[in-house]
Amino acid sequence: MSAASRPDVERFDVAVVGGGPAGIAAALAASAAGARTLLCERDAKLGGNATQALVHTICGLYLPDVEYEQLAHPGLPSRLALALQRADGAGQPEVAGRVRYLPIRPPVLADLAAAACAKADGLEVRMDTALCGAELASRALEASRLRLRSAEGETQVEAGAVIDTSGESAAGSLGGAETEIAAGAKLQRPSYIFRLEGVEGQAFAGFERMRLTAAVAHEARGGGLPPECESLVVRGDGRPGSLYATLTVPPLAGREYAPLDRDYLEALRVHAHHLAVAVVDYLRANRPGFAGAQVAEWPTRVGVRESRRIAGEFVLTREDVIGGLRDPDEVAISTWPIELWEDHRRPRYEYPESPCSIPLGALVSRTHPMLGMAGRCMSSTHEALGALRVIGTALATGEAIGIAAAFACDAKTRLAAVPAKKVRRRIAAQAESDPFP
Ligand SMILES: Cc1cc2nc3c(=O)[nH]c(=O)nc-3n(C[C@H](O)[C@H](O)[C@H](O)COP(=O)(O)OP(=O)(O)OC[C@H]3O[C@@H](n4cnc5c(N)ncnc54)[C@H](O)[C@@H]3O)c2cc1C
Repeated sequence: MSAASRPDVERFDVAVVGGGPAGIAAALAASAAGARTLLCERDAKLGGNATQALVHTICGLYLPDVEYEQLAHPGLPSRLALALQRADGAGQPEVAGRVRYLPIRPPVLADLAAAACAKADGLEVRMDTALCGAELASRALEASRLRLRSAEGETQVEAGAVIDTSGESAAGSLGGAETEIAAGAKLQRPSYIFRLEGVEGQAFAGFERMRLTAAVAHEARGGGLPPECESLVVRGDGRPGSLYATLTVPPLAGREYAPLDRDYLEALRVHAHHLAVAVVDYLRANRPGFAGAQVAEWPTRVGVRESRRIAGEFVLTREDVIGGLRDPDEVAISTWPIELWEDHRRPRYEYPESPCSIPLGALVSRTHPMLGMAGRCMSSTHEALGALRVIGTALATGEAIGIAAAFACDAKTRLAAVPAKKVRRRIAAQAESDPFP
């Protein structure tokens, strides 16, 4: 149902729901393009999976198959990568087969995002504020109405365009837009990431990293650790003795994986925490160099790779990604391979021939013309999302739909009616200005 405009309700041009990488980019881009913008985030910090689940590398930032690092997106993703490096929040890009990724320190990303949002003209950020209801416009000149809940109670706002970057399509679902989710047995498995300090230098250098992974898997298979501890990967973060450990976990025993169920996710977090404690005890007691290891950071949530997506005017498929689709309505590109963690023990990779276009239609709801989306909410199949979900692509798609939303509000048109060329030009122009300190 559509909402009629009411004078006593605060009005924005663009409302962005969810302050992860996609939402940060959408809000910064929409406000820089002149829209009065609201960004609401239910957590206490910006950064989404990077901040809450300690995801510590940015994938999808660089072009694949080139001998030197070449940033793939001219706008905000490149600015953020450079700002992270300036602020000692990122190391040098690392090579993994045909692609490169940027190792980062998640708290620095959260601080840079907060500083950029604080100095952006026309952008209001509401933290600890969750979307709890939505009436989405059914045509261009109508306002959408959102209900927001914080510790102070419930408020309502209106917006000309709504951008769903909640990672779980909260705005789309509450507002009755068409959404999709893969079957629980197929959904990508979540991980529990934590940081250790006090590890001796050589204990995870070079091949020792792989030996450590193999030793933990062996112990889990032999009964010395719980069997769910089979998949542990560690990566140094550039500081002496400091590493991130990623434990990818299967669903809770006897229950299908349910990433939209908050109680299920909390139960999984508690279970994964126990598993992580068992792994740390094992490392301290058995692995050379780990005797003095201490946990320096725990995540606040398990990291959810995949949940509900919004059905868009264009649906990106596995074939589009693998074949390197070129589309005239391109507003961003995808450069990461399909990486599917359908089995918690190992991912399945499929490498594209070349980067794939992301057309504006994949960022616009097929049922609600003023609802846009980016990041994990974008319109794609389960397989294609295996490539599209990474942080570099979330930033690039957020920037694109933020700009499109600002233009649509200004011209009083549907989101899909904004010319892709205009969005591309604006991204190139925005590359001249840097929102980050
Ligand atoms: C374990 C794991 C490992 C990964 N490894 C990598 C990697 O190495 N490199 C890489 O690039 N990517 C990686 N990813 C993928 C990447 O982290 C995410 O896909 C990326 O964060 C997507 O960004 P997003 O903005 O779409 O969503 P998210 O980061 O999930 O952000 C969504 C935000 O919306 C907020 N929100 C949700 N509902 C509401 C609501 N109702 N109201 C208000 N706010 C709401 C959430 O609190 C959150 O802050 C990994 C993901 C996981 C889970």
